[in-house]
Amino acid sequence: MDGNERRYVQEAFDSNWLSTVGPNLTALEKEFSALVGLPAVALASGTAGLHLAMRLAGVKPGDEVVVPTLTFSATVNPVLYEHARPVFLDSEPCGWNLNPVLLADFLGQRARQNRLPKAVVVVHLFGLSAAMNEIQEICRPHGVTVIEDAAESLGARYHGKHSGTISDIGVFSFNGNKMITGTTGGMLVARDPAKVEAARKWSQQARDADPLGVNNYVHSELGFNYRMSNVVAGIVRGQLEILETRVAQRRAVFDRYRTGLAEVPGLTPQAESPDCRHTRWLSCFLVDEKKFGLTAVELIRFLDAANIEARPVWRPLHTQPLYEIFECIGGGVAEDLNRRGICLPSSSSLTVTDQEFVMARLREAHELAPIRR
Ligand SMILES: *Cc1c(COP(=O)(O)O)cnc(C)c1O
Repeated sequence: MDGNERRYVQEAFDSNWLSTVGPNLTALEKEFSALVGLPAVALASGTAGLHLAMRLAGVKPGDEVVVPTLTFSATVNPVLYEHARPVFLDSEPCGWNLNPVLLADFLGQRARQNRLPKAVVVVHLFGLSAAMNEIQEICRPHGVTVIEDAAESLGARYHGKHSGTISDIGVFSFNGNKMITGTTGGMLVARDPAKVEAARKWSQQARDADPLGVNNYVHSELGFNYRMSNVVAGIVRGQLEILETRVAQRRAVFDRYRTGLAEVPGLTPQAESPDCRHTRWLSCFLVDEKKFGLTAVELIRFLDAANIEARPVWRPLHTQPLYEIFECIGGGVAEDLNRRGICLPSSSSLTVTDQEFVMARLREAHELAPIRR
């Protein structure tokens, strides 16, 4: 926290607007809309947003939904909430996101069988936008809804546009580990304002207007308790004001790794294409075992022994016990990225001294490796 978060929360307490209605919520949605250029509804979490996105796309039990296999489980869980079936798709080797060539083949094949998926969920992994132009062009002729899971990419750009605003529906997260946080929270945006209003209604138990005007609740649709609170909205408002600072800080962390580790063989950063602004939510590298001397897992253990928390790149969903029964188109690239990928400490609050310590241990890991093997 470091902007006006405390002030907006104080205002919520002072005015006694502490629940799911209030001035912070109204202001946050306005400010978020102004930033990204689309109508927005504030929600309890990114996962709630993805669930409502399934409903907006008309996903019904038994429908197929395409999901990249290389992502966090929250991307796909809402598909199961609706009793639909995920079809996993492999990554591009370069940017690690959904592979458009595989997507084109898959949709072509399903179109010939006359059983197209209801939606495609695209994830912008670690703050790098997927190939949205290609994906949009592939999906449009088939009439398949594209949902952007932008939970990790708030602040990223794609050809100058905000990540999460390119397709029909975009979802953002303010979870504690994301670019900015409300301690929790999410946001859904859509090109069609009617979709945002439908999501807003469903997020508040789907209450219809009461003809008597006395809150004699009328329900004609299934609703959820998915609204953000006015207290959380206060925190997010303050954080939104410093989003650009956070992006700059995370990018600076990445740049220090890139220059500081340039001489260490066998470490390759996740790419950034010239058309995109990668937020470097996480600084991710691939470890080449032969050149570096350790596998990614060995390196993570080595760092852990020095009290440094590093993690693998997401474990592909098609390898998860819960999801291995579902179809996966390809998968070898994602498995390889999981095997070789490492996410280094990337917090915006990481001090230069701490980062120097991390890099010193990384160099040491490489230098000691031949002796240990
Ligand atoms: C964090 C995350 C989510 C879930 O967001 P929550 O706000 O934690 O529910 C969804 N998808 C991806 C890719 C994420 O990283």
